[in-house]
Amino acid sequence: MPDLHDLRSLCARLDGAPYPAYSQLKGTWDLGSATLEVVWIQGDPYAAPSVVTVRLAPDEVGLPAALRSTEPRRRGVEAFLARALARYGDGGVEGSGRSGAVVVQDPGQLVEPQSAVTLDDAGGLTARFRLGLPARGRRILGGAAAELLARHLPERIDATLRASAHSPGDLKRAAEVSEDAAALREALPGAGLVAFVGDGALLPRRSGVDDRPLDAPDAVPFESPPGLRVTLTAPNSGAVTGLGIPAGVTVIAGGGFHGKSTLLRALERGVYTHAPGDGRERVVTLPDAQKIRAEDGRAVTGVDISPFIDGLPGGRDTHRFTTPNASGSTSQAASLVEALESGARVLLMDEDTTATNFMIRDRRMQALVPPEFEPITPFVDRVRALHDDLGVSTVLVVGGAGDYLEVADTVVVLRDYRPRDGGAAARAVVRDHPSGRASGPPPPRLAPAPRTPDPLTLDPRRGRREVSVKVRDHRLQYGDESVDLSAIDQIVHPGQARAVGAALAWVYRWARERNDARPPTMKELLDALDALQHDHGPVALDPFGAGEAMAVRRHDVAATLNRLRSLSLRSP
Ligand code: ADP
Ligand code: MG
Repeated sequence: MPDLHDLRSLCARLDGAPYPAYSQLKGTWDLGSATLEVVWIQGDPYAAPSVVTVRLAPDEVGLPAALRSTEPRRRGVEAFLARALARYGDGGVEGSGRSGAVVVQDPGQLVEPQSAVTLDDAGGLTARFRLGLPARGRRILGGAAAELLARHLPERIDATLRASAHSPGDLKRAAEVSEDAAALREALPGAGLVAFVGDGALLPRRSGVDDRPLDAPDAVPFESPPGLRVTLTAPNSGAVTGLGIPAGVTVIAGGGFHGKSTLLRALERGVYTHAPGDGRERVVTLPDAQKIRAEDGRAVTGVDISPFIDGLPGGRDTHRFTTPNASGSTSQAASLVEALESGARVLLMDEDTTATNFMIRDRRMQALVPPEFEPITPFVDRVRALHDDLGVSTVLVVGGAGDYLEVADTVVVLRDYRPRDGGAAARAVVRDHPSGRASGPPPPRLAPAPRTPDPLTLDPRRGRREVSVKVRDHRLQYGDESVDLSAIDQIVHPGQARAVGAALAWVYRWARERNDARPPTMKELLDALDALQHDHGPVALDPFGAGEAMAVRRHDVAATLNRLRSLSLRSP
């Protein structure tokens, strides 16, 4: 295998040559403590940087076996090392366009499977990222290339990817925090819970655009109320106390600005594990919890929203409801039914982002608009059946809609960011202040019929490109379409959005190659994607091998697919 010396001399020979001559770098190089594989070379210095893979043998990584003895431990260490590799700084090399750029996917606060840094069973490590090969105009800068590849890169690897570069305590914490979070999450069903917020958690963030925790003196640490306190056991921390949110219907109430939405947002994120120091390390939610909100203007394709909305003016059918431009209530109904279809077991809603007429209808409005002229069965009349018939729990933030107190199993009241058990008070309020609402006839049973997307409508081609998937500013450019992801609240990292794009492209190919007269139903294709990620990890959803993917949940793939404006269905 050619070594550092050969790499330097090739770079010297390439100096001044036209940019495409960089293709001679393709192949594998021995950097001493690691190997460098140059996988793909960019066409010019302004294009997306070139793709490389770096591999370290187990003894070069030097990770104690205990730090990778379980899946969650390994995942914690992988995310820790990816973060270190991403944050080491730039390549110290200048030139035109993206010359000298080192682009490593930073997992941020998340500890989820990602493709930038992975460990294998023997303790060897693979890192995938992009390097901007240096040029002046379209001429190769040989000296800068040697500096980037033969000096900066080995230095960066030594300083970030070897266990010896880090304090043993930090590495251990990365492994243990991840393992504890996974154990707490796994303990939820057995304890009859859908979510858990550990005492001492710091929920507020620095700002709406900064996911780091609010600084300690300003943040009120979470403290569970005695009535709702539970104790779970984690392998490294032992007994952990906190607020347990039981299965059923839970209302989070409280005055404005007392921390309701912040708590719900932490529960949304609780489907993911967070890094040490995040503040939400011990906030865990069942993995199948899906945030539901109103999103007027979204596209809806063939969704049976009739259990919520039936008898629209003009005899419009809501058993297979299709629109390019949903209203607040129809968008929320569709998102809810779609979540049930993808297998959600917990629904999370915040009054701040719901459609009022979907959520409630009080006695005065019932009196003004007779039932035969009201197409909507409000969610307050369905939420119990959702749990009693289907076993689907709901956690709902409410500041104004007191009618929900009547249907809640659990009421948490926030005051000055501190939760209280509001159950007894809520029952007294319900008794002393009857809502006076008429209960209509029991609405039809909620059982979404399986839908079969037409795989041809998932075509990822664009112009001459076989697969065109790009993510920018909460939008996914997929083939000829641009999908707005901003209302899919649990896609929180660009790597997840990229993985969704790759997942849809994979489904397109898979469904066509399946050689089956019948295309897969939505459930079947989501199952196939789960199996793919289970077997190969997010590397399978990283089409360029550039370490740019992060694991993505089936619900979020479905939510994106359901928003494609070109989506069409096969008839059942
Ligand atoms: P609500 O939904 O009840 O109106 P929010 O959750 O939006 O309230 O919180 C209001 C403000 O209080 C936000 O700026 C949030 O960051 C801050 N906040 C929330 N929880 C805490 C806490 N535990 N400590 C300090 N500030 C908090
Ligand atoms: Mg709020």
